[in-house]
Amino acid sequence: MIAVEVIEQMAAIANDPDSETGGVLIGRYVENGAIALVDMASPPPGDSSAGLDWFERGRNGLGELLREQWNQPQRRYYVGEWHFHPIGRADASLQDRRQMAEIAQDPNYRCERPLLVIASPGTLRRRTARVFVTSQQRDLQEFQQDVPAP
Ligand SMILES: [Zn+2]
Repeated sequence: MIAVEVIEQMAAIANDPDSETGGVLIGRYVENGAIALVDMASPPPGDSSAGLDWFERGRNGLGELLREQWNQPQRRYYVGEWHFHPIGRADASLQDRRQMAEIAQDPNYRCERPLLVIASPGTLRRRTARVFVTSQQRDLQEFQQDVPAP
């Protein structure tokens, strides 16, 4: 489940119609890991690079941000990635799928089934986004959710 504030954060960060952008998702799992609550969509780390139809998330400052979130009264941690696609639809590209499979296998992330949230200008206008979850087979499955009316 994605808090409305998270959509607002993505909309504020995704202000360039000519460039993809993105960052990490921070939140927590509840109900024995069955439900992921997303509390925050981070801005792109300073060493990220992007173009009209590609985005490579950097790492600068992420360790600090994650430590800070972990030490909140309500612990929060890395639960996945988000992207903004300025053109086309909010589909997961082959590149996106590869990246998520890599993260799922990377012990540093400690996240076996990371989420991928993709927003486009159209989804942001509707204050929504598409949500994918990395399956056990390390492929992306779209997750359907009811979006609360604004
Ligand atoms: Zn993408």
